[in-house]
Amino acid sequence: MMETAARLKRLGTETAFAVSAEANAFRDAGNRVYPFHLGDMNLPTPENIMEAAIRAMKGGKTGYCPTMGIPELRGAIAEDINRSHGTHYKMENVAIQPGGKPVIGKFILALMEPGDEVLYPNPGYPIYESQIEFNGGVAVPYSYREGDGDFAIDLDALERSITARTRILILNDLHNPTGAEASPRERERIAEIAREHDLKLLLDEAYFDIRYEGRSVSLASLEGMEERSVILFAFSKRFAMTGWRIGAAVGPKHVADAIGKLNVNDESCSNHFVQYGALEGLRGGPGGTQRIVEELRRRRDRCVERLNEIPGVRCFTPKATFYLFPNVTEAMERTGLLEYEDFRRTLLRETGVSFCTRLHFGRPLPGEKERYIRFAYSGIELADIEDGLHRFKEFIVRRSSRSPKSVSSRATASP
Ligand code: PMP
Repeated sequence: MMETAARLKRLGTETAFAVSAEANAFRDAGNRVYPFHLGDMNLPTPENIMEAAIRAMKGGKTGYCPTMGIPELRGAIAEDINRSHGTHYKMENVAIQPGGKPVIGKFILALMEPGDEVLYPNPGYPIYESQIEFNGGVAVPYSYREGDGDFAIDLDALERSITARTRILILNDLHNPTGAEASPRERERIAEIAREHDLKLLLDEAYFDIRYEGRSVSLASLEGMEERSVILFAFSKRFAMTGWRIGAAVGPKHVADAIGKLNVNDESCSNHFVQYGALEGLRGGPGGTQRIVEELRRRRDRCVERLNEIPGVRCFTPKATFYLFPNVTEAMERTGLLEYEDFRRTLLRETGVSFCTRLHFGRPLPGEKERYIRFAYSGIELADIEDGLHRFKEFIVRRSSRSPKSVSSRATASP
């Protein structure tokens, strides 16, 4: 057999895709599935964007384009970010990518030396941990605490884990999977930490525009942060363009250039005509995103309301993203299903409700006692939210009455 390279053992994956595969297999076997596991969207890309891409395709934009992207799109992204962030980017600070995700690996390749320690969120998007370790870095997790009405970064613990080898901090504000947003004080403190320890920052802003009240604020807006940050800029959620595969890395010119050099080696350039669609998204006004956010808001409100009606489930109302991270510690105890995968699989089998758990967002940290699952409402209609969460509730009630003793025995072991 042809052996694969040893380095692949250090490469992680997005295990949420395995949940999708399981849910699809269950559906294909003739069962009803309620897809709360998807970080994807079942909303259409705004019409004007589709038309602009088709026009570009028919107009001959089907050959290669510059490796860093078409100048118009690079300029439009710089302007867009400057408007919301108060930054000073120009076209040359922008390297177009085939998606937001490639920015993570390319940032690590461009800025991390082997042996460098990198602070990253856990629970968090699993690709950070994967890319850090694949490229020979040391992944150092920081965690989120459940507070009164939101999750917050455990900044004291984060600061304690900094050593002389810490070089990079990855921040995903607004956060997948908790929906958390940093407060102004937290942002100030992270900026202070970055200055004090001379850290390079990856700011994953994939959800920057998916918010239901207030305004998003980037860490890049704070004094001295622009020059030490690379922004992961995404179109996927803002314009419901997940399958188009377009995004950008935005940072100091020499870093954008280094990432451009990686582009030459990896994909030559991002899809040419797709960039004209993305450009139309930025130029076409906020209407498209507003419609997307309005629909997501209806789903969020219904989902939070119904989840909180389930015995043993506690869920906040995040102001942003399309994720919920309900605490299900007591619900799991009621059912006697104390292992995450048992709980998830039994629910899928018995109710068709499919979701990810905390396990899909990084290795659980020592001493972690509370249990969480992640609900995405971006790929499921209101009526199915109602139906699915009704089934979820019935399942918990049915199981609770079957094993009443389990309610009092709190699980303490880490999964
Ligand atoms: N960062 C985070 C936190 C995400 O959740 C995602 C997508 N789910 C991405 C980056 C990648 O987005 P894109 O589809 O633009 O590659």
